[in-house]
Amino acid sequence: MRRTAEVVIIGGGVTGASIAFHLAGRGVRDILVLERRFLASGGTGRSVGVIRQLYPTPETTGMVVRSLVVFQRFADAVGGEAGYVGCGVLIGVSAGMRPQLERAVALQRSLGIRAEVLEPEEATRIEPRIDPDALGAVLYEPESGYGDPTAVTMGYAEAARRHGVTIEQGVEVTAIDRAGDRVTGIETASGDRVAARVVVNAAGLWSPAVARLAGVELPIVVGRHPVFVVERDPGFGPAHIVYLDLAGGSYVRPETGGLTLTGSLTDDETRHPMDPELLGGDVSLEEAIPVLERTRRAVPRLIEARYRRGWAGAFDITPDWMPILDESPLRGFYIAAGMSGHGFKLSPAVGEMMAAILTGAEPAVSREPFRLDRFAAPAPAGTFVASYLGS
Ligand SMILES: Cc1cc2nc3c(=O)[nH]c(=O)nc-3n(C[C@H](O)[C@H](O)[C@H](O)COP(=O)(O)OP(=O)(O)OC[C@H]3O[C@@H](n4cnc5c(N)ncnc54)[C@H](O)[C@@H]3O)c2cc1C
Repeated sequence: MRRTAEVVIIGGGVTGASIAFHLAGRGVRDILVLERRFLASGGTGRSVGVIRQLYPTPETTGMVVRSLVVFQRFADAVGGEAGYVGCGVLIGVSAGMRPQLERAVALQRSLGIRAEVLEPEEATRIEPRIDPDALGAVLYEPESGYGDPTAVTMGYAEAARRHGVTIEQGVEVTAIDRAGDRVTGIETASGDRVAARVVVNAAGLWSPAVARLAGVELPIVVGRHPVFVVERDPGFGPAHIVYLDLAGGSYVRPETGGLTLTGSLTDDETRHPMDPELLGGDVSLEEAIPVLERTRRAVPRLIEARYRRGWAGAFDITPDWMPILDESPLRGFYIAAGMSGHGFKLSPAVGEMMAAILTGAEPAVSREPFRLDRFAAPAPAGTFVASYLGS
């Protein structure tokens, strides 16, 4: 069957859903989202959902500021629930990292973010269960927290549908058609063809494979980032705050049912490339133990917590750990991928920026740092930790 669409978006994760919503909001009609499995079945559904605001560049800070206000009033701004819990976020750094933290915070505050640098002991007033001893400073972001990436995806998808967007699940794009240097449409696994002058690659962990269908190479590595779940002991007390221990290399984020999600902050994802088809698979206790040891050093009171399970997550990582939001060398074929572990908290602003780019409007935040051709010269290197503090 041959059909036409104005815009085809490949991928029904939080990125694709947000782009569809924002694009429809700009008056674009005949938008088709194709998702090979089901909405949020990719990295989005495996995410930890932390929303912190510490970024070292004005553009990424601007993106997260614009996103946070959407999470805070998601029901009004979009519809549905974002599951946003503004419990606050603490970010612990070593003494050596403190100057970078001070610089990044000065920038944040100049852009209107509420954040303060605390002495380690002071931070225990906010969360008495963290261990301040190995820290040089702690950043406190009282308005940050975490949200529910699946719920946000559903909210955007439902709102997009209300604006006339068609979302088809269980439809895999298997070919991208071109005429010369222009995209002309896509083909699906069942042999359907959709003619379109604009195709957006929002395929997350599969974005390099989808780009290759169009003959485009993306500088993206899919790197493993496992998540571990522990059950706090009954005497732990009220849920803890979100705590990112950049000095010790772990994080904790509370979950309902007395659970805590935890993982590594040691920048080792790119050393562990992962086949995205393994997403969500079990992890071994052997893999969990060193991470749980770091978590327990960060929050000693978790020593009594019981390990429950874990899952294999992964990030789509660019060399500078920042997204690609741009047209590719194939005209009409756009990339919104390489989220590098930030794709949930930035998703409202990513959708907003992509909708502006696709309609030829000026984005609210400069798009320069997100251009694909920044990797044309020898790639600027980055790390996840540098995405907090700068290098
Ligand atoms: C373990 C983990 C923890 C994280 N923690 C955080 C965090 O604390 N804070 C934060 O901001 N971000 C976090 N992230 C990152 C964030 O969740 C992701 O960047 C974001 O959800 C990616 O969304 P996406 O829509 O770009 O990609 P995905 O969610 O991967 O969506 C891509 C979709 O494309 C579909 N697809 C692929 N190929 C095709 C095809 N050929 N045809 C049709 N459909 C296709 C897939 O099925 C998938 O549903 C985390 C991620 C993980 C995995």
